[in-house]
Amino acid sequence: MPQFDMIVIDPERAKGVEVEEHTAGKPLREGGGDETYRCGGCKTKLLVNVGHHDAHGAVIKCGKCGKINTEPHHH
Ligand SMILES: [Zn+2]
Repeated sequence: MPQFDMIVIDPERAKGVEVEEHTAGKPLREGGGDETYRCGGCKTKLLVNVGHHDAHGAVIKCGKCGKINTEPHHH
């Protein structure tokens, strides 16, 4: 099962982008695939066992450390 650390971006870069809010204590999304994505700041698991398409283009604000993460494959 591949596990990836997401890329932390500057909040300025997230302006105009739809940011999903993660809540600490549970993943934002879970199931449907075999890829796990962690916050690039605090390593909290944000997406667990999701399909690649679930992570594609995702911009997620970590509920634990408040950093804004984007998925690592397309940057
Ligand atoms: Zn975090």
